[in-house]
Amino acid sequence: MTRPKILFTEKIHRKAVEEAEKFADVAVELNLGPQDLIKKISQFDALVVRSSTKVTKDVINAGTGLKIIGRAGVGLDNIDVEAAKKRGIEVVNSPEASTIAVAELVFGSLLALNRKIVHAHHSMREGRWERGKFEGTELYGKTLGIIGFGRIGREVAMRAKAFGMKVLAYDPNVTGEDCKEYGVGYCMELDDLLKSSDFVTTHVPLVEKTRNMIDAKKMGLMKKNAVIVNISRGGVVNEEDLYKALKENTIRGAVLDVYVCEPPEKCPLASLDNVVLTPHLGASTEEAQINAGTVVVEKIRNFFRK
Ligand code: NAD
Repeated sequence: MTRPKILFTEKIHRKAVEEAEKFADVAVELNLGPQDLIKKISQFDALVVRSSTKVTKDVINAGTGLKIIGRAGVGLDNIDVEAAKKRGIEVVNSPEASTIAVAELVFGSLLALNRKIVHAHHSMREGRWERGKFEGTELYGKTLGIIGFGRIGREVAMRAKAFGMKVLAYDPNVTGEDCKEYGVGYCMELDDLLKSSDFVTTHVPLVEKTRNMIDAKKMGLMKKNAVIVNISRGGVVNEEDLYKALKENTIRGAVLDVYVCEPPEKCPLASLDNVVLTPHLGASTEEAQINAGTVVVEKIRNFFRK
């Protein structure tokens, strides 16, 4: 078979591009405007993008030779999947690439919050030595409630067990047996998990049912010293309700990596002491970036092998 032609329109890790070069003719064009892409796309069998390239219906229809579109990363929001389907073009992505990176950030952020690492670091930078001020709490022996027991939820569970935590999970699509395999307690109802957990972490997609799934009412069920973690998608935890709960100390703290609006126009949460905020860094590790590209390239290689 002749070598397929692949167009990369965004910066993908060089290891992924090198992998692609082993079986395909590769073009990397990082500054294509929408019209340039429409003009060029007919020359290619495959297109690889991240999140910036808009793969619209017009692009897809112009891609007369296009057989597969790869999105290096999780979402497919920038690809008109329906239009691709209609033309019989396969769409692949690499949601599994950032699983470990996200699971590790959960614990990095939790430890940062619980041991007041960010405040202590700033205090040292300002020349102070305030040993008495930064007493923290331990994860050991505490209960972690995981909402969404998929890829990331399970990796989080395994790491939590290593910290000596008790773990509960709520996910309507898994069974008690699935949880048992991981040594995790199964909650039939979300409210049971919220009432029993010292830390609650969300690992669900943002869909109708999960938007604002943790709101003031749900926060009201949680322990007064509970901590909420949202490294899934902005809006799963209601930001205004969270601000109010933290301000009024009806919960103890929060860790957020994702926001309803990114970057947030205003971020009142940033004015609080009992939060650790990061700017959507869940997948920002070298390894996850390599994986995001290489997994997609591997899927494209397998597609052309068929
Ligand atoms: P996954 O599909 O493997 O798992 C998601 C789980 O959520 C599934 O088991 C599903 O059954 C469960 N779920 C769906 N609706 C639910 C509900 N109403 N209540 C409880 N559980 C529900 O996905 P994943 O790879 O584990 O990723 C989870 C989330 O993390 C995704 O939304 C993803 O976008 C997000 N994510 C964020 C970053 C980041 O940079 N912060 C990086 C990667 C992934």
